[in-house]
Amino acid sequence: QFNNVPLVQQGGYISVNTAFQNDISPLKIDLIYGTFRSEDGSPYLLPVVKKAEQMIVNDISSHNYLSPTGIEGFTKSASKLLLGDVEKQWKDGTIFGVQCVGGTGAIKIGAEFLSRHMNCTTVYYPDPTWEMHGTVFSFSGFSNKFKYRYLNKETKLIDFEGLCEDMSNAPIDSVVILHACGHNPTGLDLTKEQWRTVSEIMKERKLIPFFDIAYQGMASGDIEEDAWAIRHFYNEGFEFLCAQSFSKMFTMYNERVGNLMVVLKSGCNIDSLKIHFEKIIRSLYSSPSNHGARTVFKILSDPELYDEWLSSFTAMIFQAMDLRKAFRKAIEEIGTPGKWNHITDQKGMFILLHLTSIYVDYI
Ligand code: PMP
Repeated sequence: QFNNVPLVQQGGYISVNTAFQNDISPLKIDLIYGTFRSEDGSPYLLPVVKKAEQMIVNDISSHNYLSPTGIEGFTKSASKLLLGDVEKQWKDGTIFGVQCVGGTGAIKIGAEFLSRHMNCTTVYYPDPTWEMHGTVFSFSGFSNKFKYRYLNKETKLIDFEGLCEDMSNAPIDSVVILHACGHNPTGLDLTKEQWRTVSEIMKERKLIPFFDIAYQGMASGDIEEDAWAIRHFYNEGFEFLCAQSFSKMFTMYNERVGNLMVVLKSGCNIDSLKIHFEKIIRSLYSSPSNHGARTVFKILSDPELYDEWLSSFTAMIFQAMDLRKAFRKAIEEIGTPGKWNHITDQKGMFILLHLTSIYVDYI
């Protein structure tokens, strides 16, 4: 009976959100969801998105089902953002993409594939990481979940030695989640030199890279620069998966636009692999929806819209960087004890303040 279902308590950001909703303070500010807001706190939508949406309304000749792996033009343009030109690899059958339900959906489809068709059972992810990584992989049958050291809470920097030691001890064929840029939640990214070392360890240990990129452009202000690690692993000849989210880059949070890029060595039977992905998707939601991915595809494939997107997206990122500076200045000006340089040292969408729960509850 349903009343035998074990009781569970809400956790993570949903419980913080409930506490926020119940708080009657007129001064409360919602810092829970990672979304861009206008000055008045309402969700901000990049104007180019509205423009592209109006253009595609007339393009859409049919509301027929999409194929399970979605719009190929979209997945190809999305993969180009990650790797630059992929025309040749697309033709060779060494790279393909799967349209997914946001970045979360891309991680889920990748996890299902690795579990069902590669017999993977072990996953490593950074400590700390975005809260859904562990949940998605355990729901997909990964029985061994391990954290690799990432944040040193004392120094507020990356514990790179610890990270290397943990990866060096990972068993062969372990899947390793790598935040490509703008690490959530620490805002701390590896240097190029450190990425090189990580790729050497992973090659030596035969580990499977699974990149997660939800903030391309938002760490350095440059979309190419933020894809550096992915390009490096590609150039090093890895086979890997990359879950790509368009929620933040296009301010289209509820359209759930994502891509799972699959990078293979030559000689793989790409058609057969695609069928595996199709079957996974058929069993979960049959096929993806059209509107969001079509809109992103329109922007990525139309040079004028692309330029408009890039300049307004970049302006938005620099505005967020200025906010970091202003926030640090304000904290320091009122003489708050402690050092606050980490606020401006961190990159991307998040600020990890290093406040313990006593302070969070007090605030
Ligand atoms: N990965 C990371 C690291 C994220 O921070 C997020 C979004 N918070 C996602 C994936 C999921 O993205 P989406 O909202 O597109 O599902």
